[in-house]
Amino acid sequence: MVSRVIPVDVFDLVIFGGTGDLARRKILPGLYRRYVAGQMPADSRIIGAARADLSEADYRAQVAEAIAEFVPKDRQDKTAIQGFLDRLHYVAIDATGTNGWSALKGLMRDSVVRAFYFSVAPSLFGDIAQRLSEHGIADAWSRIVVEKPFGRDLASAKALNAVLAKHFNETQIYRIDHYLGKETVQNLMAVRFANILFEPLWKAEYIDHVQITVAETVGVDGRGAYYDKSGAMRDMVQNHLMQLLCLIAMEPPYHFDPDAVRDEKLKVIRALKPVPSEDIVRGQYGAGGGDKGYVAHSENPASRTESYIALKVHVSNWRWQGVPFYLRTGKRLRARASEIAITFKQPPHAIFDDAKGWHENVLVIRLQPNEGMNLMVMIKEPGPGGMRLMQVPLDMSFADAITDGEDVPDAYERLIMDVIRGNQTLFMRGDEVEAAWAWTDPIIQGWELRGDKPQTYDPGSSGPEDALMLMHRDGRRWREIR
Ligand code: NAP
Repeated sequence: MVSRVIPVDVFDLVIFGGTGDLARRKILPGLYRRYVAGQMPADSRIIGAARADLSEADYRAQVAEAIAEFVPKDRQDKTAIQGFLDRLHYVAIDATGTNGWSALKGLMRDSVVRAFYFSVAPSLFGDIAQRLSEHGIADAWSRIVVEKPFGRDLASAKALNAVLAKHFNETQIYRIDHYLGKETVQNLMAVRFANILFEPLWKAEYIDHVQITVAETVGVDGRGAYYDKSGAMRDMVQNHLMQLLCLIAMEPPYHFDPDAVRDEKLKVIRALKPVPSEDIVRGQYGAGGGDKGYVAHSENPASRTESYIALKVHVSNWRWQGVPFYLRTGKRLRARASEIAITFKQPPHAIFDDAKGWHENVLVIRLQPNEGMNLMVMIKEPGPGGMRLMQVPLDMSFADAITDGEDVPDAYERLIMDVIRGNQTLFMRGDEVEAAWAWTDPIIQGWELRGDKPQTYDPGSSGPEDALMLMHRDGRRWREIR
């Protein structure tokens, strides 16, 4: 089956920070791929904006390099690249000054969708929003896209929301969390709400526990200064892992509609219990495997920032009473792997004697690598010798099963096209972000007040020892990171 390309309206997309790392690695290569897929209507334009004094030709050459570097070779096509580059324009602009704003206004066209991607430091969001509005560049139909981090605590998130709200309505603001753009993550909703099979079992009565893992092999190399002020809790849990948890735990929305979905996610965040310190393990990778260790990348040799965190979280409502959600994420771990695993309870009565072969059913939703789902089920081991049981996966790899080998759009591609379509379902609403910080803040304040030090773990391992204990003491085990 070939994936369907749904046309979008003609658009002008301005990328503030159009020469930056994110634009080069994700946004522009993603847009190129949508162009190749035929999803960029003729006449649509992309306008890069940054302070550097570049000609249009310079900018196109830079983007050509980015495509050569970040688009897989077999997707690079000379004619298509040229066609895409022809859509690019550039304006030298200073977000905090006066330079370039009149030129940008002059480029804008009426009767096309106007979208503004703020791919710059969050400290510039207010300046850009104000100037877009003062110069009449943004109109009531314009959309703005803002990147993470959306604040570093509740107070700063509220301040950012307030600054944007001065110039834009909530319906115009697209707070991006690229995890929500992943095919598998959306499939989680399809599996839950488009099938009768799972939903009746989706509750405390039948689910033993949930594990959410986002493991990275990379360290903080080169990003030490930024990361040291953030840490795994702010950088990953408050946004990405929390969003995944919401999609698993939320009630069925009345419709697949932006506010209906986000209302249900908000209810989950508000139902999260405070987490006691004994249910949190923080880690920091030490030296090894050619890496000098976390602190070598930090400006502070005594840094207590966590590069790993594991937590046991409870959602305090009827559906999830007593079901722990174990979350963990970290850098410099054994493998790059992101997955959600939902472990079901055992049948109430065992009729088979084979206790050795016995395992629970587990629904594994893999985000990376190889997006897909596995349902681990028990079957009879083939052959004679009595009734011995074995666990096998019912495997569904999306890349093979759905698209006949055709590229599944990357999260950024999908989300940018949703912005152009005006669909906010997969973007975080302001109150969601604030609720997430309201839950996160006391956890961080707790370890800061106590002066907790993260436990050192070996690079290439599966994290700190204490994280294993977090599960062991409940009679459970983490799934292997591989
Ligand atoms: P970056 O590489 O430092 O790029 C920053 C961009 O902003 C450059 O194009 C820079 O160009 C422009 N810029 C800086 N000051 C400006 C000003 N006063 N006026 C106009 N343009 C200005 O940053 P990045 O890594 O792309 O990150 C951009 C945003 O995305 C940040 O909020 C970051 O947290 C977020 N983010 C990044 C990643 C990632 O993988 N990189 C992932 C998730 C989120 P000039 O210096 O020429 O002005």
